[in-house]
Amino acid sequence: MDIRLDGKRALVTGAGKGIGREIVGLLAQCGAHVVAVSRTEEDLATLAREVGCQTIQADLADANAARRAAEAAGPIDLLVNNAGISIPQPFLDQSVEAFDKTVAVNVRAAMIISQVIARGMIARKSGGAMVNLSSQASLVGIADHAAYCASKGALDQLTRVMALELGPHNIRVNCVNPTVTLTPMGKMAWGDPRKSEPMLAKIPLGRFADPPDVAYAVAFLLSDKANMISGITMPIDGGFTAI
Ligand code: NAP
Repeated sequence: MDIRLDGKRALVTGAGKGIGREIVGLLAQCGAHVVAVSRTEEDLATLAREVGCQTIQADLADANAARRAAEAAGPIDLLVNNAGISIPQPFLDQSVEAFDKTVAVNVRAAMIISQVIARGMIARKSGGAMVNLSSQASLVGIADHAAYCASKGALDQLTRVMALELGPHNIRVNCVNPTVTLTPMGKMAWGDPRKSEPMLAKIPLGRFADPPDVAYAVAFLLSDKANMISGITMPIDGGFTAI
């Protein structure tokens, strides 16, 4: 099976590092023209040099900046809402500021960007596909991750509603739900072996995910090979949620 995205324009948020950066490279290899949105200018400059993608710098925690970035991207066929943050805090010390920022980036930005992109798809009658980067943290509770788990649970539900309302316009919307993935975020939250070892022990395949494990699933869900798949949450977790 060969996944080709020639002639498609893809928008990837949070493209500067980690999973987003891997997705940009893979979608470009599959033939898509990629528009990469991220916060750090330097990451975007190196990405543009490596991949030849278009770039837009924006802080998606700001609702207006998120809307402007989506509008600046032009017509888009494939959207990946990947930007996300994690600010681990024990529940009793969960701050309102960290909660609001987590929800703003992980859920609100995905909603705003998807609205702009979906309106364009509907106006052009082009159809399209979207993938939201959720997490196993939407499916189980994880200590010190109250805001993150809540935001990813909300993202799963946003995805289902989008799939319902956008399906009649031939727009498919899905989530992928990775386990711990070895990116800058994954290493920040799980770098301490006292935390990572109990988590690893619950993964039947015995390892954390690498960015390509996630990127391949995203490319499949965006492609016409997944034409009958919409509204799902797809664990990429080595069996973690099977236990
Ligand atoms: P990462 O290594 O921290 O990279 C995240 C990227 O998103 C960075 O380029 C970052 O830019 C960008 N970003 C963050 N906040 C932004 C904002 N407000 N505006 C614009 N760009 C922003 O994270 P990752 O591990 O690749 O995670 C990607 C997605 O997968 C997230 O949604 C995350 O929740 C999800 N996920 C991750 C894991 C994991 O273990 N790593 C597991 C399951 C799901 P800056 O560096 O410039 O801020």
